[in-house]
Amino acid sequence: MPGVVCPGCGLSLDTPDLGFDSKFHASCACLQLYWELSAFTLTIGEPDFIHQLAVDAYAAQHAGPGTKPIRTAFALMGLCLVFERGFTGREVQLAHMEMGKSRTEWPVLQPPPLTKMVTVQDVLNDDLPNNYREALLRWGRSVWDCWKPEHERIRRLLRVNLDRIGDR
Ligand SMILES: [Zn+2]
Repeated sequence: MPGVVCPGCGLSLDTPDLGFDSKFHASCACLQLYWELSAFTLTIGEPDFIHQLAVDAYAAQHAGPGTKPIRTAFALMGLCLVFERGFTGREVQLAHMEMGKSRTEWPVLQPPPLTKMVTVQDVLNDDLPNNYREALLRWGRSVWDCWKPEHERIRRLLRVNLDRIGDR
């Protein structure tokens, strides 16, 4: 069976080629794994809403010509808030809502070259029901680290769009 390689995260899957979703810059096979993970993170009843981390890690990892600049910018600002400011998923969600009110033109951030990253499949393959927090943090951290050349720009976006409205 021919393998399918996801253009976003580089994940190679031995499944029939289900096509490509340009809105997500992902192979449909990879996207299916993401829906599977989301079904899990949305139903664990986690008070901190760690599902937000899965949303942001996936979106930041799958940025391409067909994805909206706001989606990538919000995902990366979400990861920055988690890994540099210690926000919970719930706090990131609230920050997104606040920033969503802004009329800012979100810049097109330059995706890093495809390198070996933790993928949604690694998270699913982990000891998921017990270990989901660690697995999601490892994934989010690896995506955030890959975007290092844009870190300063993302921090600046947060200073302008979030700190200005006085949230922390
Ligand atoms: Zn992918």
